[in-house]
Amino acid sequence: MIPYGRQNVSAEDVQAVVDVLRSDFLTQGPVVPAFEQAIVRLTGARHAVAVNSATSALHVACLALGLGPGDRLWTVPNTFLASANCARYCGADVDFVDIDPGTWNMSAPALEQRLKLAEAAGRLPRVVVPVAFGGQSCDMRAIRSLADRYRFAVIEDASHAVGARYAGRPVGCGEYADVTIFSFHPVKIVTSAEGGMALTQDDRLASRMQLFRSHGMTRDPALMEGASEGGWYYEQIELGYNYRMTELQAALGLSQLERLASFVERRHQIAARYAALLDGLPLETQQPLEAAHSALHLYPVRLRDSQRRRSVFDAMRNAGVGVNVHYIPVHLQPYYRRLGFACGDFPVAESYYAGAITLPMYPDLSEAQQDHVVASLREALR
Ligand SMILES: *Cc1c(COP(=O)(O)O)cnc(C)c1O
Repeated sequence: MIPYGRQNVSAEDVQAVVDVLRSDFLTQGPVVPAFEQAIVRLTGARHAVAVNSATSALHVACLALGLGPGDRLWTVPNTFLASANCARYCGADVDFVDIDPGTWNMSAPALEQRLKLAEAAGRLPRVVVPVAFGGQSCDMRAIRSLADRYRFAVIEDASHAVGARYAGRPVGCGEYADVTIFSFHPVKIVTSAEGGMALTQDDRLASRMQLFRSHGMTRDPALMEGASEGGWYYEQIELGYNYRMTELQAALGLSQLERLASFVERRHQIAARYAALLDGLPLETQQPLEAAHSALHLYPVRLRDSQRRRSVFDAMRNAGVGVNVHYIPVHLQPYYRRLGFACGDFPVAESYYAGAITLPMYPDLSEAQQDHVVASLREALR
């Protein structure tokens, strides 16, 4: 089976992990900070806080922003569950903004319209989470200007977009988002097996996220409430978690970063070839946004005739092509339906989903494999 995504692990990556295994620190050593600094250099962010997953990064970002009961977080239905769940962990409410029918990303006009209504009703969100779907940024300039006007914080879920650019600068540079989230899950652009990071320009947010990553405890005298009782002394000043990334994971992630640019370039070659091979088929691909240079985590297509999605999906799976679907609209999950959401609430995301199929996309996908993917799709669509 050709998978829809797959990691590329080199001999150097393996050696980097083995070196850590033979070192003094398996956790809380020097490699996590080195990985964080490499991401800082890559993106131009001031701070990068490594955690054990992007889900944890979303959670500590919400906590650092003070999200809590009575607050609202808005995201899109066309995302992975975690972009919404982070609000629920904090006891806050979730609502959604529909997507743009071309880019399949958060629609800035839809966001603006909902903000006007929410302002009139006194129900503005405290946090908005735009998601760089497939690795392509949302219209972040528009979203930032709405954030300034309506005073909400922006957490950009860039789990798909490590190595992507927007308006000429790396995603994560902090010009548009208060916090940017990266994922290092094996299907993403670079991997640390499990792992994530939260990037910010804000010193206080960074220090709060570090606190929540590790039990809410500190050894920093400036943060302590009492006087130190000696060299062993620490204080717990918040209720935090154990969300730490291990040294093994950081070593893998750091070693992978060396090949980030070549991974993204290879994904662009594959996408260009898909575009040529798929030409003339009854489907749509993700519309590019002029300011964005995607990392191309995914290659989603939308069949014009969504009635055929199920049979095309099954036929391709039977032909050994591990197609997938991104994403089942989050508001239609049983958990969110119980909170009051229903079919018809976000029609653009629902109609996109009905015809969506994700084709295999990863650096080691060969031309022969890609030809097989396209031949099986053509056959299924005949
Ligand atoms: C993968 C993903 C996450 C969660 O990432 P983990 O590192 O697996 O926790 C969150 N948001 C989006 C959009 C994702 O694709």
